[in-house]
Amino acid sequence: MHIAKPMFDADVVINLPKLKTHSAQIFSGAVKNVFGCIPGLKKAKYHKMAPNPGDFGQIICDIHKATNICLHIMDGILAMQGEGPTAGTPYRAGKILVSTDSLALDTVAAKMVGMNLLDVPILETAQNRNLGEGNLKNICLAGDYDQIPRLVKFKLPKRFGAVKKHNSTAVLKVIDFFATRPKINQTKCKKCNMCVESCPVQAIDKETKQIDYTACIECMCCHELCMFRAVELKNNNKIAGLLSGMLRK
Ligand code: SF4
Ligand code: SF4
Repeated sequence: MHIAKPMFDADVVINLPKLKTHSAQIFSGAVKNVFGCIPGLKKAKYHKMAPNPGDFGQIICDIHKATNICLHIMDGILAMQGEGPTAGTPYRAGKILVSTDSLALDTVAAKMVGMNLLDVPILETAQNRNLGEGNLKNICLAGDYDQIPRLVKFKLPKRFGAVKKHNSTAVLKVIDFFATRPKINQTKCKKCNMCVESCPVQAIDKETKQIDYTACIECMCCHELCMFRAVELKNNNKIAGLLSGMLRK
């Protein structure tokens, strides 16, 4: 893998994630944040290699195991809810979480916002790879709380339910895709071409800004990188429900 050289030059590396939702990966905290160590557009290459959120988790775990991050400090003072990491809305949570164990930190943070570890494929993979402690019973809280505080009315991303139910099989992944997929709002689009250039599989037509859904791998990079919030996530629960029902018969 290509990992930024300063990660290996520094005496000490401290991970500084924000507390936020993620439209594709559901939750982005201390575990996911290390993807920032992959330089620039090489990120797209790894998204292409691992379109499934669970497989993407393997890449994240590889980065953790290849580097030596000694402390994780999560800024949850002003968190992001909804369709993060770009199109979410601010949530004033007023929390800072600190741990030497990224998975333990995220397990607690996910609980705060109303998720469990198994709802987030990256965290499930991290637990399977023994990245840290993912069992709340074994995590000791210190500081201001003796119980995990809940963030009331924190909005989860639209894909939350779909990824939760179907994160492992290729067939059921199709259902998830139909349930929520990116669509470019032509009225909001400023034709900057950021999405076109960052799409790892060149699924977005440069002229029309239409997405070729037969090529799209659902990485949601376009949604993440559009600064004009023109890449929206469209729900089609009718189709998803139909497919789900058929496949379960
Ligand atoms: S990144 Fe957003 S504004 Fe730019 S071309 Fe794509 S959809 Fe349009
Ligand atoms: S169209 Fe968007 S979601 Fe689909 S592969 Fe390209 S960047 Fe990823």
